[in-house]
Amino acid sequence: MTINLESFKKKNARNFCLGVSAAAKYVAAEHTCKLSLQTRYFYNSGKIFDNPSWNISHGICLNKSIKYLEDTFEGIFLYDRESVKLKLKVGECWLFGTPDVIGRVGNKLIILDAKSGASKFFHRHQVALYAAMAELQLGLEIGGMYLTYHNPDVDDHNFNVVDLGSQDQIQEIWNIDAKRDLMKLANIITSGKPAKPSPNENNCHYCDWKYKCQAVFNESEHALSLFADVKV
Ligand code: SF4
Repeated sequence: MTINLESFKKKNARNFCLGVSAAAKYVAAEHTCKLSLQTRYFYNSGKIFDNPSWNISHGICLNKSIKYLEDTFEGIFLYDRESVKLKLKVGECWLFGTPDVIGRVGNKLIILDAKSGASKFFHRHQVALYAAMAELQLGLEIGGMYLTYHNPDVDDHNFNVVDLGSQDQIQEIWNIDAKRDLMKLANIITSGKPAKPSPNENNCHYCDWKYKCQAVFNESEHALSLFADVKV
């Protein structure tokens, strides 16, 4: 077995799921290791996210985002985040996640995700997937999708809003190629066969299984193989 899973706990079958963020990163080619994602689907890594400076920055961004929405959409109704858990089945694979803000203006939904730090390409896939899931689950059209950014490395006051569009832009972001990529990943995850590892610096750096994975990226081996055919 590529990953020694003895020290990890298998999830209860009711909780098997892939996070929307992980699905978005895969489709945007920002994390491409299928083995890592398959393992995450079935197992708890036990890793606890504990980053006080991220929490502060995300809180600043979220407060500014809510003010932005209230100023932009008069009378917007904001759902209690705990009351809406978005789920979607892709093939036999469950996706799960909730954006930072789901609002309703009239009979249309507004979806917003607040980010601390720099913009990443997968963020648009993430928000558009939340929007598609919310549309299905709540039965209302999407009136707007937003990404907001606060970068603590700049100053305490910076705040940027990216308007990703509405209903039509979901299909542009989640085009047929993106949907096919996610469908293939879902089939691999639930195939019953171990997925192939894709070790590289980018995939392995933040991987929860890296200390127990035999395939983990080793920088020195990579350098050796790159220069193996050079004679001096
Ligand atoms: S350590 Fe690297 S190769 Fe192994 S599962 Fe994680 S990302 Fe994949």
